[in-house]
Formats: sequence, structure tokens, C-alpha cells
Amino acid sequence: MTAVETERFPTRLIIHGEPVEAASGKSFGVVNPATEETIAQVAQAGVEDVNRAVESARRTFESDAWRSLSARSRGQMLYRLGELCLTHKDELARLETLNNGKPIFESGIDLRLTAETFMYYGGWADKVYGETIPVDGPFLNYTLREPLGVIGAIVPWNFPMSLAAWKIGPALACGNTIVLKPSEETPFTALRLAELALEAGFPAGAFNCVPGPGRVAGMALVEHEGVDKIAFTGSTEVGKAIMRAAAGTVKKMSMELGGKSPNIVYADADLDAAARGALNGIFYGKGEVCAAGSRLLVEADVKDALRDKMLERAKKMVAGDPLHPKTRLGAIVSKAQMERVLGYIESGRKEGATLLSGGERVPVNGKGYFVAPTIFGDVEPGMTIAREEIFGPVLAMMTFHGGMDGAIPLANDTIYGLAAGIWTRDIKKALRTARAVRAGTVWVNTYNMYDAGSPFGGYKQSGFGRELGSYALDGYTQVKSVWVDLS
Ligand code: NAD
Repeated sequence: MTAVETERFPTRLIIHGEPVEAASGKSFGVVNPATEETIAQVAQAGVEDVNRAVESARRTFESDAWRSLSARSRGQMLYRLGELCLTHKDELARLETLNNGKPIFESGIDLRLTAETFMYYGGWADKVYGETIPVDGPFLNYTLREPLGVIGAIVPWNFPMSLAAWKIGPALACGNTIVLKPSEETPFTALRLAELALEAGFPAGAFNCVPGPGRVAGMALVEHEGVDKIAFTGSTEVGKAIMRAAAGTVKKMSMELGGKSPNIVYADADLDAAARGALNGIFYGKGEVCAAGSRLLVEADVKDALRDKMLERAKKMVAGDPLHPKTRLGAIVSKAQMERVLGYIESGRKEGATLLSGGERVPVNGKGYFVAPTIFGDVEPGMTIAREEIFGPVLAMMTFHGGMDGAIPLANDTIYGLAAGIWTRDIKKALRTARAVRAGTVWVNTYNMYDAGSPFGGYKQSGFGRELGSYALDGYTQVKSVWVDLS
């Protein structure tokens, strides 16, 4: 593996524009999952640090300097932040790969989406405004779209940089300030973004970053009276705990939670494209993707043909050094997550699914938390691997009969509703299926497509609120109705 001694890892909290150690003096070790080495000690935010970060964000939000900063200037700063991400693209991509274990190729894709998200919301900053309403009587009535105040953003470890940007971009564009709590597994790129925001011209306190344990630092943000909204991405289980705790202060919330997304292959699909799409749907990002196409629903007539094509391709998907530009399958983020994934594989075997490929840990150069791309056939809808989010490279293949009538009930047989894929050459069937599937994103003859302009979010227990696009602006503004007597 490439040496990391020369790397500069950001290791201190960013509070009110300054890199600082935790008030407690505590730190936590960050591990490179590809080598199992601890590569840095990062300051561990506790309640006191979160309190200071919220105070800073509140002070900045209420300051004359922030209030008098024009929306256009904020937009220019965001655009500049996007440019800075591109200037530092190799550094940010390396940090992401060393921390998360994802291939550098994928970190490059995340980096582009991160930069584009900042630039996209830079464009929105001076285009968020209210309207005049023709009310009855001698009155002028108009609305103002105002920022919420201090945003507490809590993000997971699978896309540490881009998921942070999805919150930072619209929050700052709309004039809020923000305290970001990255996952304790993956703090580097979040801290670096907070440094770059200062370089882009944002004042101290506009964007604070406090990595620390979810139950302590995350919960402190959730319970804090000075936080106006929690923008959360993570598991459904933690999302529910946050909703309960946030009730105490009636916080606004957006929830981007888990998924168990169906990828539906009809018999009339281009099977080569569908095989590629099915593998990309589950093995991109090592399957640690909330929208992963983890349930492959195949029309019975083409089950064998599709399976053979997939197995042929899956053989070539070999885990490798994440820093190597040709690697397409990296390391699972942590030992604990790898064990969780292996536990699900074991449950699939025990419950009677047929293991078609993979199924085990495959160290690279004798190290690392790598798991082989795993495909299970003969999966029944009641099996654990068909119902629970595994968040790893494990695909559950199921079959259906009877076209849409067979596919739709199976696709919707889940508590989740984040995404779905549809493979068919019949455009009417594609569009009718897209309408019938209960999911926030539907991909037709493609999978895993994202764009800063296109909304993303969940139906059902995959959450509420939308990120990206113009839709996200609603989640970071509130509307004031002003009445003026003209009589
Ligand atoms: P997680 O829910 O364990 O943690 C997410 C974040 O919440 C982390 O920063 C963590 O420190 C914090 N946290 C944990 N417990 C907390 C608590 N009690 N109070 C406050 N904060 C707390 O999720 P994870 O394991 O980091 O990420 C995987 C999960 O994220 C999967 O379920 C995945 O589907 C989901 N996810 C969803 C989306 C989406 O957009 N819908 C995107 C990516 C990941």
C-alpha cells in the first residue's frame, strides 16, 4: 500500500474559525480500514465542545456582520468553496479513501459531486425569496423566506464529504449557520471542508465542525436549545432516537435514513445492461450506500441467464488497494461493520439462501477489512437478508412471475422507500412501474445516478425532507407572512 507518512490529517475541532483540542483533552484513533493501522488521533468533541460550537454558530447567526452580508456574497463564498474543493481535489480524495476505504476512483466522483453541490447552491443564494399574495381587503401581504438559524448536521461514514456538502450547501446559501458532527469513523474531510470554508471567506462560526461519538456529541446537538434544526443522515434506528430526543425542543428535522432498495429486472430488459446495473447497484461503494440495489428482483424467465451474466462479471470484481486508480472494490469501513456484514452472510446461509459467489473476508496483502462481492440466489422475501439493511456488498436475488403484478408488491414489501431500479425495453412498463414503486428516487435502465440539481430522499421509513435541488431550500428556510394596512 502507498505510504501515508507524508499525509496531513486534520485532527482538531473547528470552533469559531479556530482549530482546537477537545475541552476534555480526549482524542480518538482513526483507522485506515485497508491496512488496519491507526493513522491519526483526532480531538473528540464532548458536550462542552458542542455547546461552544453552537454558541459560536448562534453568535455569528445573530451578528450584524452575518445579517448584513448580502445573499450574493454568500453565494460567491459557496462558489469559491466549490472551487477550493477542486483545487484540493487530490488531497480530499486521498483523505476520503484513507479514512473510508473506498477506491480512490470513487472518492474522485464524491469530490466532484461535493464541489458541484457548493457551486450549485452558490447559484441559489440570491434566488431564494418570497412572493406577494392578493389577499382580500386593503392590505399588502407578502412573504419573506428567512433562514432557520443554527443547523445541527449529523452525517454517517459512507459518503463523509458529499453528504456533508448536501447539508452545508443549502444551509449556508439560505443564510443559516451550521455545526457539523461527522461520523467518529470518518472525520477528516469534514474538518478539511470547515478549514476551506474559512479560506473561501465565510466568517468564523458560520461553519463549525465537531467530530465525536454520536451518543455524546450528536445527542448534545440534538438536545441543544440553541439548535433550530437537525439535518440527519444515518440509520433508521438512530433517526428514530433523534426524533424522540428532538421533540423536547420541537426542532425542525430532515431525516435521510436507511434503505433496502429493489432493482427490478423484467424479462424484456437488455440483460447485459441489467447485469452491469445490478452489480453496480450493489457493489459500488462496497454496498455501503443507502440507496444500494440490495434486492434484485428478476422475472423468472430470465433468472438463469441474468445470474450467469452477473457471476461472469462478479468474478472479475477483485478487492484491491483503495489508493490504486484501477481498484473498484475497496475495504469495508471498519472491523465492526465487516463483522456485521459477515454476520448477515452467515444468516443468509443458515436461512437457506444459495450462496452463488463471494461470502467471505478477502484480505489484500494479508490485511484489511475487505469482503468479497457476495451474491445470494433463491432468497425468499421473509429472510433476514431480504428485509434488513446490510450496508455491505451482499446482494439478495429473488424472482417474480407475471410482470408488473408480480414485481410491484415484492418491490414495495419493505419498511423502506429510498430508491428503486427498473430494467426493461418497454417504456410504458417502465413509467408505470416508476409510478407504482414507493421510493424517493427511481432509476430506469440505470442506477446510482446523482446530481446536485436533482432531489434525493426517502418515502416510508427511509425518512422525510429532500436534499439537493431546489427542494432542499424548503428545509433550510421558514416563511414569514407580513400584512400591511393600506387603508
Ligand atoms: P448511524 O445512524 O449509526 O450514525 C450516523 C451519524 O449519527 C453518525 O455521525 C453517528 O455518530 C451519529 N449518531 C449515532 N448515534 C447517535 C445518537 N444517539 N444521537 C445523535 N447522533 C448519533 O449510521 P452509520 O452507521 O454512520 O451510517 C449508515 C447508515 O446511514 C445506514 O443505515 C444508511 O442507510 C444510512 N444512510 C442514509 C443515507 C440517505 O441519504 N438516506 C445516506 C447515507 C447513509
